[in-house]
Amino acid sequence: MSWLTNFVRPTLKRWMQPRPAREAQWVACPKCGATTFHRDLDANWRVCPHCDHHLTLAAARRFALLLDEGSWSRIEVPGAATDPLKFRDAKRYADRLKEAAALSHEAEAVAVAHGRISDEPAVVAAFEPQFLGGSFGAAAGEALVAAAELAALQDAPLVVVTGSMGLRVQDGALALVQGPRVGLALRKLAERGLPVIAVLADPAFDAVTEGVLQQADVVLAEPGARLGPPAPDPFAALDTPEFVAPRAGVREAEAARAEGRVDRIADRRDLKGEIAAILDILRRPMPSATILTYRPKPSIAAPDASDA
Ligand SMILES: [Zn+2]
Repeated sequence: MSWLTNFVRPTLKRWMQPRPAREAQWVACPKCGATTFHRDLDANWRVCPHCDHHLTLAAARRFALLLDEGSWSRIEVPGAATDPLKFRDAKRYADRLKEAAALSHEAEAVAVAHGRISDEPAVVAAFEPQFLGGSFGAAAGEALVAAAELAALQDAPLVVVTGSMGLRVQDGALALVQGPRVGLALRKLAERGLPVIAVLADPAFDAVTEGVLQQADVVLAEPGARLGPPAPDPFAALDTPEFVAPRAGVREAEAARAEGRVDRIADRRDLKGEIAAILDILRRPMPSATILTYRPKPSIAAPDASDA
Protein backbone atom coordinates (compact mmCIF):
# COMPACT_ATOMS: atom_id res chain seq x y z
CA MET A 1 0.00 0.00 0.00
CA SER A 2 2.66 2.49 1.03
CA TRP A 3 4.82 1.51 -1.89
CA LEU A 4 1.84 2.04 -4.16
CA THR A 5 0.89 5.43 -2.70
CA ASN A 6 4.42 6.69 -2.18
CA PHE A 7 6.06 5.61 -5.37
CA VAL A 8 3.89 4.11 -8.07
CA ARG A 9 1.06 6.62 -7.93
CA PRO A 10 3.22 9.80 -8.00
CA THR A 11 5.36 8.33 -10.79
CA LEU A 12 2.27 7.45 -12.80
CA LYS A 13 0.80 10.88 -12.15
CA ARG A 14 3.98 12.61 -13.26
CA TRP A 15 4.12 10.47 -16.35
CA MET A 16 0.48 11.16 -17.20
CA GLN A 17 0.83 14.93 -16.86
CA PRO A 18 0.90 16.78 -20.16
CA ARG A 19 4.39 17.83 -21.16
CA PRO A 20 4.88 21.31 -22.56
CA ALA A 21 3.10 20.85 -25.86
CA ARG A 22 5.46 20.36 -28.74
CA GLU A 23 3.12 22.46 -30.91
CA ALA A 24 3.42 25.42 -28.51
CA GLN A 25 7.13 25.56 -29.29
CA TRP A 26 6.32 26.14 -32.94
CA VAL A 27 4.22 29.05 -34.19
CA ALA A 28 2.29 28.89 -37.45
CA CYS A 29 2.26 32.12 -39.43
CA PRO A 30 -1.36 33.27 -40.02
CA LYS A 31 -0.37 34.53 -43.49
CA CYS A 32 1.95 31.96 -45.10
CA GLY A 33 1.32 29.03 -42.76
CA ALA A 34 5.03 28.31 -42.29
CA THR A 35 6.01 27.30 -38.77
CA THR A 36 8.84 28.97 -36.88
CA PHE A 37 10.44 27.95 -33.61
CA HIS A 38 8.98 30.36 -31.04
CA ARG A 39 12.41 31.51 -29.85
CA ASP A 40 13.51 32.36 -33.40
CA LEU A 41 10.24 34.23 -33.94
CA ASP A 42 10.78 36.17 -30.69
CA ALA A 43 14.34 37.03 -31.68
CA ASN A 44 12.90 38.50 -34.91
CA TRP A 45 10.36 40.57 -32.89
CA ARG A 46 7.63 38.17 -34.02
CA VAL A 47 7.99 39.02 -37.68
CA CYS A 48 7.64 35.85 -39.78
CA PRO A 49 11.09 35.09 -41.25
CA HIS A 50 9.42 33.46 -44.28
CA CYS A 51 7.03 36.22 -45.44
CA ASP A 52 7.69 39.24 -43.13
CA HIS A 53 4.14 39.06 -41.73
CA HIS A 54 3.94 40.95 -38.43
CA LEU A 55 2.36 38.85 -35.68
CA THR A 56 1.03 40.50 -32.52
CA LEU A 57 3.70 41.62 -30.05
CA ALA A 58 3.28 41.78 -26.27
CA ALA A 59 3.38 45.20 -24.60
CA ALA A 60 6.49 44.23 -22.61
CA ARG A 61 8.31 43.42 -25.87
CA ARG A 62 7.13 46.74 -27.35
CA PHE A 63 8.93 48.60 -24.59
CA ALA A 64 12.09 46.57 -25.21
CA LEU A 65 11.74 47.25 -28.95
CA LEU A 66 11.25 51.02 -28.72
CA LEU A 67 13.03 52.18 -25.57
CA ASP A 68 16.78 52.18 -24.96
CA GLU A 69 17.96 49.16 -23.01
CA GLY A 70 18.17 49.84 -19.28
CA SER A 71 16.62 53.30 -19.67
CA TRP A 72 13.00 52.54 -19.06
CA SER A 73 10.59 51.64 -16.30
CA ARG A 74 6.88 51.07 -16.17
CA ILE A 75 4.33 53.12 -14.34
CA GLU A 76 1.60 51.36 -12.47
CA VAL A 77 -1.70 51.53 -14.29
CA PRO A 78 -5.01 51.05 -12.51
CA GLY A 79 -6.31 47.52 -13.04
CA ALA A 80 -9.89 46.66 -13.88
CA ALA A 81 -11.08 45.90 -10.37
CA THR A 82 -14.72 46.52 -11.11
CA ASP A 83 -17.38 44.58 -12.94
CA PRO A 84 -19.97 47.38 -13.23
CA LEU A 85 -22.58 45.36 -15.11
CA LYS A 86 -21.93 42.05 -13.29
CA PHE A 87 -21.38 40.85 -16.81
CA ARG A 88 -21.65 37.22 -17.65
CA ASP A 89 -21.47 35.52 -21.04
CA ALA A 90 -19.98 32.04 -21.35
CA LYS A 91 -17.78 33.03 -18.41
CA ARG A 92 -17.95 35.63 -15.65
CA TYR A 93 -16.18 38.87 -16.55
CA ALA A 94 -14.22 38.67 -13.30
CA ASP A 95 -12.93 35.23 -14.35
CA ARG A 96 -12.06 36.49 -17.82
CA LEU A 97 -10.00 39.28 -16.29
CA LYS A 98 -8.12 36.82 -14.09
CA GLU A 99 -7.41 34.52 -17.03
CA ALA A 100 -6.31 37.43 -19.21
CA ALA A 101 -3.90 38.63 -16.52
CA ALA A 102 -2.42 35.14 -16.15
CA LEU A 103 -2.06 34.72 -19.92
CA SER A 104 -0.58 38.14 -20.69
CA HIS A 105 1.29 38.89 -17.42
CA GLU A 106 -0.28 42.36 -17.61
CA ALA A 107 -2.74 44.01 -15.24
CA GLU A 108 -4.80 45.44 -18.09
CA ALA A 109 -5.01 45.88 -21.86
CA VAL A 110 -2.78 48.98 -21.94
CA ALA A 111 0.66 49.22 -20.31
CA VAL A 112 2.74 52.39 -19.91
CA ALA A 113 6.50 52.89 -19.63
CA HIS A 114 8.80 55.89 -19.72
CA GLY A 115 12.45 55.98 -20.68
CA ARG A 116 14.55 57.08 -23.63
CA ILE A 117 14.32 56.60 -27.37
CA SER A 118 17.80 57.06 -28.85
CA ASP A 119 18.87 59.04 -25.77
CA GLU A 120 15.84 61.37 -25.73
CA PRO A 121 13.10 61.04 -23.09
CA ALA A 122 9.79 59.54 -24.20
CA VAL A 123 6.64 57.92 -22.84
CA VAL A 124 5.27 54.81 -24.54
CA ALA A 125 1.76 53.39 -24.07
CA ALA A 126 1.24 49.98 -25.64
CA PHE A 127 -1.85 47.83 -26.03
CA GLU A 128 -1.47 44.23 -24.88
CA PRO A 129 -3.05 41.96 -27.51
CA GLN A 130 -3.18 38.97 -25.15
CA PHE A 131 -5.30 40.82 -22.60
CA LEU A 132 -8.83 40.18 -23.91
CA GLY A 133 -7.69 41.10 -27.41
CA GLY A 134 -6.45 44.51 -26.27
CA SER A 135 -10.11 45.45 -25.82
CA PHE A 136 -10.58 49.02 -24.71
CA GLY A 137 -12.33 49.47 -21.40
CA ALA A 138 -12.28 51.83 -18.43
CA ALA A 139 -8.80 50.80 -17.21
CA ALA A 140 -7.27 51.15 -20.69
CA GLY A 141 -8.68 54.68 -20.86
CA GLU A 142 -7.18 55.47 -17.46
CA ALA A 143 -3.82 54.12 -18.62
CA LEU A 144 -3.77 56.29 -21.77
CA VAL A 145 -4.78 59.40 -19.81
CA ALA A 146 -2.03 58.60 -17.27
CA ALA A 147 0.48 58.20 -20.13
CA ALA A 148 -0.47 61.61 -21.55
CA GLU A 149 -0.21 63.23 -18.11
CA LEU A 150 3.20 61.65 -17.57
CA ALA A 151 4.39 62.95 -20.96
CA ALA A 152 3.20 66.47 -20.01
CA LEU A 153 4.95 66.22 -16.64
CA GLN A 154 8.21 65.12 -18.23
CA ASP A 155 7.92 67.45 -21.20
CA ALA A 156 8.38 64.38 -23.37
CA PRO A 157 6.73 63.06 -26.54
CA LEU A 158 4.17 60.28 -26.32
CA VAL A 159 4.16 57.16 -28.50
CA VAL A 160 0.92 55.16 -28.52
CA VAL A 161 1.05 51.67 -30.00
CA THR A 162 -2.53 50.61 -30.64
CA GLY A 163 -3.77 47.10 -31.28
CA SER A 164 -7.30 46.36 -30.18
CA MET A 165 -10.26 44.19 -31.10
CA GLY A 166 -12.68 46.91 -30.01
CA LEU A 167 -14.48 48.31 -27.02
CA ARG A 168 -14.78 46.18 -23.89
CA VAL A 169 -18.53 45.63 -23.79
CA GLN A 170 -18.34 44.35 -20.21
CA ASP A 171 -17.43 47.87 -19.06
CA GLY A 172 -20.57 49.28 -20.68
CA ALA A 173 -20.84 53.07 -20.75
CA LEU A 174 -17.58 53.34 -18.79
CA ALA A 175 -15.79 52.10 -21.92
CA LEU A 176 -17.67 54.50 -24.21
CA VAL A 177 -16.64 57.62 -22.31
CA GLN A 178 -12.93 56.78 -22.49
CA GLY A 179 -12.55 57.79 -26.15
CA PRO A 180 -13.35 61.48 -25.59
CA ARG A 181 -11.31 61.49 -22.34
CA VAL A 182 -8.23 60.17 -24.15
CA GLY A 183 -8.79 62.62 -27.02
CA LEU A 184 -8.84 65.52 -24.55
CA ALA A 185 -5.67 64.32 -22.78
CA LEU A 186 -3.85 64.04 -26.12
CA ARG A 187 -5.06 67.47 -27.23
CA LYS A 188 -3.50 68.97 -24.09
CA LEU A 189 -0.14 67.58 -25.25
CA ALA A 190 -0.62 69.24 -28.64
CA GLU A 191 -1.34 72.55 -26.91
CA ARG A 192 1.99 72.24 -25.10
CA GLY A 193 3.79 71.44 -28.35
CA LEU A 194 4.56 67.87 -27.33
CA PRO A 195 4.43 65.42 -30.23
CA VAL A 196 2.16 62.39 -30.23
CA ILE A 197 3.13 59.52 -32.51
CA ALA A 198 0.65 56.73 -33.18
CA VAL A 199 1.78 53.30 -34.27
CA LEU A 200 -1.02 51.13 -35.64
CA ALA A 201 -0.35 47.47 -35.00
CA ASP A 202 -2.64 44.65 -36.03
CA PRO A 203 -5.56 44.63 -35.32
CA ALA A 204 -6.75 48.24 -35.07
CA PHE A 205 -10.48 47.68 -34.74
CA ASP A 206 -11.95 50.38 -32.60
CA ALA A 207 -13.09 53.93 -32.14
CA VAL A 208 -10.22 54.65 -29.77
CA THR A 209 -7.79 54.05 -32.59
CA GLU A 210 -9.75 56.66 -34.55
CA GLY A 211 -9.42 59.11 -31.65
CA VAL A 212 -5.68 58.53 -31.39
CA LEU A 213 -5.39 58.94 -35.18
CA GLN A 214 -7.12 62.31 -35.05
CA GLN A 215 -4.83 63.65 -32.34
CA ALA A 216 -1.52 62.15 -33.47
CA ASP A 217 1.02 64.33 -35.26
CA VAL A 218 2.39 61.38 -37.17
CA VAL A 219 0.67 58.05 -37.82
CA LEU A 220 2.86 55.04 -38.53
CA ALA A 221 1.52 51.59 -39.23
CA GLU A 222 3.07 48.18 -39.31
CA PRO A 223 2.85 46.37 -42.67
CA GLY A 224 -0.44 44.53 -43.14
CA ALA A 225 -2.01 45.91 -39.93
CA ARG A 226 -5.79 45.61 -40.30
CA LEU A 227 -7.88 48.71 -39.65
CA GLY A 228 -11.61 48.65 -39.29
CA PRO A 229 -14.71 48.80 -37.14
CA PRO A 230 -14.88 46.80 -33.89
CA ALA A 231 -15.27 43.05 -34.21
CA PRO A 232 -19.01 42.19 -34.30
CA ASP A 233 -18.63 39.35 -31.83
CA PRO A 234 -16.56 40.75 -28.98
CA PHE A 235 -15.93 37.31 -27.52
CA ALA A 236 -14.64 35.68 -30.70
CA ALA A 237 -10.93 35.14 -30.86
CA LEU A 238 -10.23 37.58 -28.04
CA ASP A 239 -7.12 35.70 -27.02
CA THR A 240 -5.82 35.23 -30.55
CA PRO A 241 -6.57 38.48 -32.41
CA GLU A 242 -4.30 37.63 -35.30
CA PHE A 243 -6.48 34.69 -36.31
CA VAL A 244 -9.76 36.64 -36.43
CA ALA A 245 -11.74 35.95 -39.62
CA PRO A 246 -11.72 38.51 -42.45
CA ARG A 247 -14.85 40.66 -42.77
CA ALA A 248 -16.27 43.64 -44.62
CA GLY A 249 -15.10 47.13 -43.70
CA VAL A 250 -11.62 45.96 -42.75
CA ARG A 251 -8.70 47.17 -44.82
CA GLU A 252 -4.96 46.93 -44.48
CA ALA A 253 -2.72 49.79 -43.42
CA GLU A 254 -1.34 50.08 -46.97
CA ALA A 255 -4.83 51.05 -48.23
CA ALA A 256 -5.18 53.59 -45.41
CA ARG A 257 -1.78 54.94 -46.42
CA ALA A 258 -3.06 55.47 -49.97
CA GLU A 259 -6.05 57.37 -48.52
CA GLY A 260 -3.68 59.56 -46.51
CA ARG A 261 -4.87 58.36 -43.11
CA VAL A 262 -1.53 56.73 -42.39
CA ASP A 263 1.66 58.71 -42.96
CA ARG A 264 4.09 55.88 -43.25
CA ILE A 265 4.31 52.09 -43.21
CA ALA A 266 7.20 51.00 -41.02
CA ASP A 267 8.67 47.55 -40.61
CA ARG A 268 8.64 46.69 -36.91
CA ARG A 269 12.39 46.08 -36.91
CA ASP A 270 12.98 49.67 -38.17
CA LEU A 271 10.31 51.25 -35.96
CA LYS A 272 12.59 52.65 -33.27
CA GLY A 273 14.89 54.32 -35.81
CA GLU A 274 11.88 55.75 -37.66
CA ILE A 275 10.36 57.19 -34.48
CA ALA A 276 13.72 58.63 -33.37
CA ALA A 277 14.14 60.33 -36.78
CA ILE A 278 10.60 61.77 -36.68
CA LEU A 279 11.04 63.08 -33.13
CA ASP A 280 14.33 64.65 -34.18
CA ILE A 281 12.61 66.52 -37.02
CA LEU A 282 9.70 67.61 -34.80
CA ARG A 283 12.12 68.85 -32.16
CA ARG A 284 14.00 71.13 -34.55
CA PRO A 285 12.82 74.73 -34.55
CA MET A 286 10.96 75.64 -37.71
CA PRO A 287 12.76 78.11 -40.01
CA SER A 288 10.98 81.41 -40.45
CA ALA A 289 8.86 81.70 -43.58
CA THR A 290 10.76 84.75 -44.84
CA ILE A 291 13.72 82.66 -46.02
CA LEU A 292 11.52 80.81 -48.51
CA THR A 293 12.18 82.31 -51.93
CA TYR A 294 11.23 79.30 -54.01
CA ARG A 295 9.26 80.14 -57.11
CA PRO A 296 8.02 77.24 -59.23
CA LYS A 297 9.14 77.32 -62.85
CA PRO A 298 6.36 77.14 -65.45
CA SER A 299 6.24 73.60 -66.75
CA ILE A 300 5.72 74.78 -70.36
CA ALA A 301 8.39 77.17 -71.54
CA ALA A 302 7.02 80.50 -72.73
CA PRO A 303 7.69 81.08 -76.43
CA ASP A 304 10.91 83.00 -76.79
CA ALA A 305 10.76 86.05 -79.08
CA SER A 306 14.37 85.58 -80.24
CA ASP A 307 13.52 82.12 -81.76
CA ALA A 308 11.02 83.57 -84.14
ZN1 LIG B 1 4.70 33.97 -42.82
